[in-house]
Amino acid sequence: MNFLAAAGSRRLCAMRAVFPYLWRGKYFSSGNEPAENNSVTPMLRHLIYKIKSTGPITVAEYMKEVLTNPAKGYYMNRDMLGEDGDFITSPEISQMFGELLGIWFISEWIAAGKNAAFQLVELGPGKGTLLGDILRVFSQLGSLLKNCDISLHLVEVSQKLSEIQALTLTEEKVPLERNVESPVYMKGVTKSGIPVSWYRDLQDVPKEYSFYLAHEFFDVLPVHKFQKTPHGWREVLVDIDPQVSDKLRFVLAPCATPAEAFIQNDETRDHVEVCPEAGIVIQELSERISLTGGAALIADYGHDGTKTDTFRGFCGHRLHDVLTAPGTADLTADVDFSYLRRMSQGKVASLGPIEQQAFLRNMGIDVRLKILLDKTDEPSLRQQLLQGYNMLMNPMKMGERFNFLALVPHQRLHGRTHQTNARQSKPSPSPVAGFGELAWR
Ligand code: SAH
Repeated sequence: MNFLAAAGSRRLCAMRAVFPYLWRGKYFSSGNEPAENNSVTPMLRHLIYKIKSTGPITVAEYMKEVLTNPAKGYYMNRDMLGEDGDFITSPEISQMFGELLGIWFISEWIAAGKNAAFQLVELGPGKGTLLGDILRVFSQLGSLLKNCDISLHLVEVSQKLSEIQALTLTEEKVPLERNVESPVYMKGVTKSGIPVSWYRDLQDVPKEYSFYLAHEFFDVLPVHKFQKTPHGWREVLVDIDPQVSDKLRFVLAPCATPAEAFIQNDETRDHVEVCPEAGIVIQELSERISLTGGAALIADYGHDGTKTDTFRGFCGHRLHDVLTAPGTADLTADVDFSYLRRMSQGKVASLGPIEQQAFLRNMGIDVRLKILLDKTDEPSLRQQLLQGYNMLMNPMKMGERFNFLALVPHQRLHGRTHQTNARQSKPSPSPVAGFGELAWR
């Protein structure tokens, strides 16, 4: 079957924003951007109170408070994605992105033996746009999936975004069940009849055969920052500026701090960012995949253990000083893919990281673009498709900065030994889509 022709061929989606909005993968040092907004936010008052009572806090604690504090956190009560927000992501730029990811999951489901059921689990689903595009592909390929029992599981801490996701996915045709006390805080059914549940924590998602997706999720998890000094590694902390009482500043811890244990013994950089929470999520994903099968697809901007200071803020599509007006801007740090691979601890096989332009090209974005262009004579839609393609693929834009990493069970790459016997030769596994020859390393 020609997946790319079938994937939503009858649907060309409504216009999505493209220019001149800023994507977060753009790299700037956190020290150079001007402070734009000096207002004393409720979050700043909260942090000053906290620091006055218990002393300077780590950058990880700062990031966690600013982004996900249940009352005042940046992510909790606003829609920051798209034209009127602070930044833009690939699924918000082009429908092709989600469609190709939908094909990736189906391809892995087929390669792993077409399990009778699977859970699709997304970490940090934003507005639900990516899942919406994936589900459209699932519907278009309904004849393939018709006997498969699919359910959706969304891991989301933001009340506001979970409401937007519910609207995108269900159109509220069937009323949602809500229970703020429960680990499954919301439940519903999608437009195409698939059950969907919301959780705050991956740990609460049933441990069943699953495909996991994390797009621009790991970059918002809190990082610890360390500076090499003549006395050894010293953690960067956030303190109150002694000159200006309602201003924060970075200081170095006077002695070693516990998070130093996360720095590799052979580390050669003089400044590092480590993200223990990312390690916990990867360990959980690896454990689940090794026990039940399935796969995880992780896409983000990042590096392979080479970059130093990548902590930065975004507000209104502009870079924003990370310590100014906390709670009004997004905070993010590049993902260290070498650390993610290390944290899988050999429980699963990893593929990548591979640059977004290579992954999407391997998935057939050029063919998909042609099919969609052939479907429309509408100049604005054609222009949107071409601009979206350029934004996703251009090495100067998102093509090189964003990377894909997959986690799959070891037997996925080495054949299913339990299906063979002495007289049969071991079946050769099909390559993992999108990763090209890397699948065979
Ligand atoms: N994947 C989406 C959104 C990326 S923004 C896209 O590409 O468009 C980051 C997302 O992660 C948001 O949905 C945010 O609310 C969610 N998030 C942030 N911290 C989280 C955490 N600790 N646990 C679960 N979700 C989180």
